[in-house]
Amino acid sequence: MKGVRCELNKLFDLTGRTAIVTGAGRGLGRAIAAGLAEAGADVALVTNRTPAEDTKREIEAIGRKAIVLQADVADRGKLEGIVDETIGQLGRLDILVNNAGIIRRTPAVDHLYSDWQDVLDVNVNSVFVLSQIAGRIMTRQRSGKIINIASMLSFQGGINVPGYTASKHAVTGLTKALANEWAGSGVQVNAIAPGYMISDNTEALRNDPVRSRQILDRIPAGRWGSDLDLVGPAVFLASKASDYMSGHVLCVDGGWMVR
Ligand code: NAP
Repeated sequence: MKGVRCELNKLFDLTGRTAIVTGAGRGLGRAIAAGLAEAGADVALVTNRTPAEDTKREIEAIGRKAIVLQADVADRGKLEGIVDETIGQLGRLDILVNNAGIIRRTPAVDHLYSDWQDVLDVNVNSVFVLSQIAGRIMTRQRSGKIINIASMLSFQGGINVPGYTASKHAVTGLTKALANEWAGSGVQVNAIAPGYMISDNTEALRNDPVRSRQILDRIPAGRWGSDLDLVGPAVFLASKASDYMSGHVLCVDGGWMVR
């Protein structure tokens, strides 16, 4: 740094970058995709069942390019196509946000093996394969940002969600493993661990008056998180501002983890 100016706006500016966001049709992924676009990025919106045309139009309205790619990320054969289509239509790949995730709630003794398998396929296996495909391109171009969406259950056991907890522990382990391998090639791999956020993922918890009260009582911020709470951290980890961060798991949790 020369003098006292660090050109702060340029540090967070994503102009000219291209991002892939999985699960971008609704929930946290939609907000992250919109935030990256507002910071300047063109975005490939990967969605499975939820239409993402409105999000595409909103992104285009702020002057960025957006494409919608329909894919079930549990289908390993579809993942190469996501990256190929993004580069084919948007020209390059700089940022990958592995956000798509599912949760199945049943006590461990009753937890169906098929639920366990489905959760691992979406929450971990797709993250590895998509990161691997993107990582080949990013390490070759010697720049790139991969952001994995972890959870409080990357650190804690949770209740009635053994597959989800295993998957989110794996996400942070994988984040660190890939970060180690790729940091020297100019690719930063980090994770965001959201706390308890308002989305379809937590609907069952918020509808349970006992669990909902227990959770709220433990959040120092005194409120559930919103999708907007993730936008700043996502833009930060996608931008030059975080170039010296690798393998970090950033808790965005209203203080949950320090309680
Ligand atoms: P959500 O509202 O339930 O959204 C889940 C997203 O994942 C949807 O966009 C969905 O797309 C996508 N998805 C699920 N299965 C998919 C598949 N097979 N292929 C492609 N996309 C798939 O949940 P959310 O809260 O936004 O969750 C986003 C991420 O944050 C997840 O990884 C979740 O584990 C994590 N997280 C959430 C919280 C929270 O409190 N909400 C806390 C910690 C971590 P479709 O609608 O197209 O199926």
